[in-house]
Amino acid sequence: ATILKVRIERLQRRIVDLGVTESPSYDYVLTTDYATLLAEEFGRQPVIDDEAAFDLFPPTPHSDPASLPLRPPIVTIMGHVDHGKTTLLDTLRSSSVAKGEAGGITQHIGAFSVPVQTASSESSSLKSITFLDTPGHAAFSAMRARGAGVTDIIVLVVAADDGIMPQTREVIELYKKFQDTVGLVVAINKVDKPAADVETVEKALMAEGIQLESYGGDIPAVYVSGLTGQGLPDLVETLAALAEMQDLRAEQTGFAFGEILESKVQRGLGFVATALISKGSLKTGSHIVSGLHYAKVRRMTDSTGKVVSVATPGMAVTVSGWKTLPKAGDNVIEGAEADVKKALANRIRQNEIEASLADVDAINETRRVERELRAAEVQAKHKRSSPQSKAQVVEESGPKELRIIIKADVSGSAEAVEGALQGIGNKIATSKVISTRVGEVSESDVTLAQTADAMIIAFSVAVPRSIQHLASQNGVQISSSDIIYKVMDDVRNRVRALLPPII
Ligand code: GDP
Repeated sequence: ATILKVRIERLQRRIVDLGVTESPSYDYVLTTDYATLLAEEFGRQPVIDDEAAFDLFPPTPHSDPASLPLRPPIVTIMGHVDHGKTTLLDTLRSSSVAKGEAGGITQHIGAFSVPVQTASSESSSLKSITFLDTPGHAAFSAMRARGAGVTDIIVLVVAADDGIMPQTREVIELYKKFQDTVGLVVAINKVDKPAADVETVEKALMAEGIQLESYGGDIPAVYVSGLTGQGLPDLVETLAALAEMQDLRAEQTGFAFGEILESKVQRGLGFVATALISKGSLKTGSHIVSGLHYAKVRRMTDSTGKVVSVATPGMAVTVSGWKTLPKAGDNVIEGAEADVKKALANRIRQNEIEASLADVDAINETRRVERELRAAEVQAKHKRSSPQSKAQVVEESGPKELRIIIKADVSGSAEAVEGALQGIGNKIATSKVISTRVGEVSESDVTLAQTADAMIIAFSVAVPRSIQHLASQNGVQISSSDIIYKVMDDVRNRVRALLPPII
């Protein structure tokens, strides 16, 4: 109340109105979600402190950051569907494997490095560029969900024969929001096509407020073809030049710090996760913690599948040795064995406390639903005599919810789907993800869906026939897809269907 500058009674009333609890005593403990919601209710923009991870091993500020070595920039490719993001990534990825190198197989692990040919052999200059290899909407949603996350530079792909499309505009909006910390390079793609019209695309970009270098601005544009490879060296050079201007530096020694890009169960290796290293160096045998998950690094492979013993900033490595499966988007922190184990124990204890608070939330949620049902009954009785306005209904029972359970192939895509579905709906009807998990749809998912009155989204995972049968028997809807914007459309339609008919 003090922070929000409101009287405590008003805050308490709001807490009751929102259905958080019926008796908010002065020492009632709010979860992050409710605290956020309340702050927003009072017109504030809360900042959730994800940096709590640093409490474990506070980073020591470097005495002279400018003397640190340069690190590779992290680049995300974005743009409208079919403008050639996947093709561009594939061509860049295959150029990441040095010619004649044994194996030469490239794998999708969440990121890969492309070497930079530098004229000077200076040891301090930039050696490679790291591309996140989640193309398109998934990358977009994940980045939006994590607030620009780890990306240093966005490559906006625009097809020269198609021009600016809705998702092109979304990327432009995203860039404008984060332009203080994120760079932009425009890649005008498919220039090999006879219908390519670079000039029209450039003028359209200028009209959207993208000040291109060739028109006196400071945003570089390169002309490329992901299909033929034309212009790709130019793209890499342009990215390198921009990165040098951004002056991205990181410690290359000491305990590693990074982020999980993907995680999965792999036959023969158990739990594996790709970590993108942002600081320090990760070595085989190191002790790491990510969320509530611990690993003693057993084996590391890079994006070409090569076994490596050390991973430095900008490198994405697939790490095995996890005791449990870590989550995409979580930090990874290395430390001395005893410290890591202590941190893990602390986190597990903290998590148990939060889980018991969540139980309290669940009880409150059940009470809220019961109240809603009672209110609905009363309303139904009154309905014939006094029709109510939509606004009144909302005020009394809160928005209608489409409850969703997400099952996905890897935790990266589960996160992306969750991110993409956030915010679908309005004050009257809305979507709410109640569970996000990796793996094929199982009996327990159907049971959960049935009890919670939820639907299941199966993203790039199988739904066994027996489960399909079980679901239809119990009236549980399962929607399968592996295209994120189709999932978004589907959910939008279902939420729309919850809206009351206009009288
Ligand atoms: P994404 O949806 O943005 O990932 O687009 P894709 O990479 O899947 O490409 C969509 C279509 O455009 C595919 O049929 C590609 O073969 C084609 N395509 C992509 N890049 C080029 C290019 O540079 N030139 C030509 N001619 N076709 C391209």
